[in-house]
Parts: sequence; C-alpha cells; structure tokens
Amino acid sequence: MYTAIAPELQHTSEAGQAKDLLRACVHCGFCLATCPTYQLTGDELDSPRGRIYLIKALFEGQAPGERTQHHLDRCLTCRACESTCPSGVKYARLVDVGRTLLEKRHPRPLGARLKRAAIRTTLGQAALFGAAVRIGQAVRPLLPEAVAASVPPLRDSGAWPVARHARRMVVLEGCVQPAIDPGINAAAARVLDRLGVSLVRVARAGCCGALPHHTGDHDGGLQAMRRNIDAWWPEIEAGRVEAIVMTASGCGSEVKEYGHALREDPAYAERAARVSGLTRDLSEVLAPFSDRIAALIAPARRPDAQAARIAYHPPCSLQHGQQVRGHAESLLRACGFEPQPFAESHLCCGSAGSYSLLQPELSAALKTRKLGHLLGTQPSCIATANIGCQAHLQSATAVPVRHWINLIESRLPVA
Ligand code: SF4
Ligand code: SF4
Repeated sequence: MYTAIAPELQHTSEAGQAKDLLRACVHCGFCLATCPTYQLTGDELDSPRGRIYLIKALFEGQAPGERTQHHLDRCLTCRACESTCPSGVKYARLVDVGRTLLEKRHPRPLGARLKRAAIRTTLGQAALFGAAVRIGQAVRPLLPEAVAASVPPLRDSGAWPVARHARRMVVLEGCVQPAIDPGINAAAARVLDRLGVSLVRVARAGCCGALPHHTGDHDGGLQAMRRNIDAWWPEIEAGRVEAIVMTASGCGSEVKEYGHALREDPAYAERAARVSGLTRDLSEVLAPFSDRIAALIAPARRPDAQAARIAYHPPCSLQHGQQVRGHAESLLRACGFEPQPFAESHLCCGSAGSYSLLQPELSAALKTRKLGHLLGTQPSCIATANIGCQAHLQSATAVPVRHWINLIESRLPVA
C-alpha cells in the first residue's frame, strides 16, 4: 500500500516506520475474519484493514479526529490479524506508531487523560495495587455482588525455594500478578527447582511497560523498559542467568519487543536486544522437561476423569503476540489433563490489559462469548497463561480459572 507522507510529518520518526509498515498491506481483507472487534460490530473501521486505512490517512495529512481515535481505541492489540495476514503485516507496530502520532496531534480531553493516568498509577505500581486488593479482600462480604466478583480470593503463595542450582533464570514478578495470584511465580520457582533450575527474583524490576505503553504514555513505557534492563543487567552481564522467564504472557509479549522499542536509544539498544533475546515464556522453558515432569507424577496423583477434563484458554499475547503455541497444552497432557477443544480459541477474551476498563462493553461481550465456548466443554477448571485473562474470566464464572503451572504443580509429589 503506497503512502504519500504529508510534508509536515516527513521529519517525524513515526512517518518512516509507518511508510514501511503500510507498504506490506495488500488490502486483501483476510484479517477481517479473525478480528474480534469486526466480528462483534461488523464495521470495516473496527477491522484491521479499516484501521490501517485510518492510520494511512493520518500519515497522509488528514486532520486527526474523534472517528480515528474511536476506532483505534477499540482495537484490542490482540494481534490475531498478524497470525492471519498472508503478507506479514506487522499490525501491532503500525497501530503503535498510529496511536503515538494521534496522541500528539489530537490530545484527549482532560477527563480521559486523567482516567488513563489513574489506571497506570493504580495497576502499574505493585505496592499500591497490592494494598487495594488486600483492602478489597478484607471488606469483600460488604461489597455488592458484582464488585465482590472482581476481587481475587486470598491465596497463599507457599515457600519460594532457596537458589541452590548452577542453572539460574530470572523471573519478572510483574505488577498486578503478585497481588491477584501470588502462587503463580512461586509455583514456577518450585517446579523449576525440582528440575534443577533456580528461578530468582530481582527486586528493582517492575511493570514490563505494557500498561503505560497501551494507555498513551509512550515515554513512561520506555522508562519502565530501561528500569527493568538496569535491574536485570548485572545478572546477565555476569553470565549468571540463562533466560528471563515470563509467567504472564502479556508481559512476555512486551519484553520480547524491548529490542525494537529501544533500538534508537544508544545507551540501551544493545542491552535491550539482549534482554529480548533471553526472554522466554514459562511454557517454552518447561517444554523440554515434559518427559521428566511426567515421570515425577505417580499414577495415583494423576487427575481422575472429572478433574482431567479442563479447558485451556491460550492468551492472544502468547499465541499471536509471541507466536508460541502448544507447549502448555502438551505439558498439561503429560500430567494427565485433557484440554478440550472449543470454538474460536483464536479470539480474544476481552481482557487485553487495560481494555476491560477503557472499553467495558466490547470487553464484556467478548468475555461472554469466550466463556460460552470454554464452559460448553464442561471443564472442571479453565487453565490459562496470563493473569489478565485469568482475572477477567474468573470475574464471570464459578469454575476455577488458574494458571496452568498451578495445575501441573498440584500433581507433583509433595516436596
Ligand atoms: S490480511 Fe494483511 S494484507 Fe490483507 S488486508 Fe489484512 S493486514 Fe492487509
Ligand atoms: S489487533 Fe486484534 S482487535 Fe486489533 S485489528 Fe488486529 S485482530 Fe482486530
């Protein structure tokens, strides 16, 4: 797709990127079939191709306005369109430069900016969010049913094993995950410990940057990336860690993009690329251990027919964002679980980071649709790989929604 960049935008860093990215699109429309928002609204402007046209018009000098912002805001950045596109259009990068330009040229009203800032402040700071969750848990009986459903249950994380192995990996603890389900990272550490790998936490690391990045604070996202690189670098430089492990696929998708995001920063470009290169989803790390994990499970600890019947929801950030598929399902099968097939497993559940707070109607419609398919398999449990999906789905069903590592650990012999 040829784009005649407007003269006043020729000097911007976004314009060069946009021109290259737009060139790959051949308008075929294959992506429409797998776009969740197009499936819901049937509006071409809520499809990848429609949004690409809006971004192209933006860079060609069309006055930015409400309509463009409305349709770009409604995009989940789920990247299902990237999995479908036969021309290899890097849609996420394109919508990113489009949104960045739009934020500069068409600032949001004060109320919308304050709402986004409040989301960043509350969710992006682990201590603040953790305190809010603990207060919610304490007063849950007093809360209206709908609000209480969104408060995560109190969970004990269990002990974190002492680092004792020569093989070491770093884990990103994340910002919301430790408060919502502190048992995920701890379970990953215990399972890896049994396999001869120590998973270590690095105190100064924090939010991966996705939250500011996707709420219009581009610079805040880059700052979060630099802070994490600084935190991890001593371990990497000393050759002490062989991977940076992500237990939330939304964070993994972001950290794997650090190299691209900081490529023009001379102080960080090289280290950012190294960090992205070392980053692995937990399922990628554990996949080679599948036989050893299966061998650890005595027949009596394998799930019975009812417990074995589960549904696994593959997050978009894993299957589309990272193009990582099948490992978690294989590991679950190796432990005796039977993930059931269901329709539209490629479609987003509507969580998408802060999307559920910023686009509640579309988000709720996608959640209902996803849960309809998942619960239709009559699972004893829904497994997933991203804390956002987990909390979002759990808010509307009594069937437990857990990270798959917790299901696997539950079958291992007690240490
Ligand atoms: S499938 Fe790819 S090339 Fe075709 S319209 Fe969609 S983004 Fe463009
Ligand atoms: S990222 Fe998802 S919601 Fe956005 S255009 Fe692509 S498929 Fe549609």
